[in-house]
Amino acid sequence: MVHEILPVGMLACNCSIFGDESTREAIVIDPGDEIALILEVLARHSLTVKAIVITHAHIDHIGGAQKLKQATGAPVHMNRNDQALQRMMDMQAAWLGVATPETVEIDSPAVDGDKLTLGSAEFHVLHTPGHTQGSISLWIPGELKLVAGDTLFRDSIGRTDLPGGDGKQILRSIHEKLLPLPDETIVFPGHGELTTIGREKQFNPFLSGM
Ligand SMILES: [Zn+2]
Repeated sequence: MVHEILPVGMLACNCSIFGDESTREAIVIDPGDEIALILEVLARHSLTVKAIVITHAHIDHIGGAQKLKQATGAPVHMNRNDQALQRMMDMQAAWLGVATPETVEIDSPAVDGDKLTLGSAEFHVLHTPGHTQGSISLWIPGELKLVAGDTLFRDSIGRTDLPGGDGKQILRSIHEKLLPLPDETIVFPGHGELTTIGREKQFNPFLSGM
């Protein structure tokens, strides 16, 4: 499996590109910005995008989705509980002092229990609200990888002081959906360095006593 992680945009959102070597199909997660770079990586691996997945509707994660959809024709998967946030894109753009990106239409609601396939690998949608109401994480059991959006970080958790955030709920999501995954699971957070479930169980100060 090809897996490239590109920190894109001014907030360095980790965009993940997964590619299957036999089908040459790809899943792109969180194309927040720098779509030309993402398309270059796809071309370098001769990959065709099968699905675009948005972990949550913050501008740094969703901002380039419409451009990537236009360039590839791939459907966009996002949990509908984040549509309220998506409608606040003007405000989100103002927070960052950037132009409002084009609105992307959601083709498929990424609900808890959904499975996307890429070659023989399955990508399981886990609904992990708290950072936002529609936040999802993607669990790829065949690869022992978790793409965590802004829910779980190395030594930290997602902020909950923005609209749709809920501090108790994010801890419940992490406890119920993420910590039960195998300790050796490699976690790819929405920003910053990767980690593992085992490491965060042991050292993450926000999860102590859980
Ligand atoms: Zn976010």
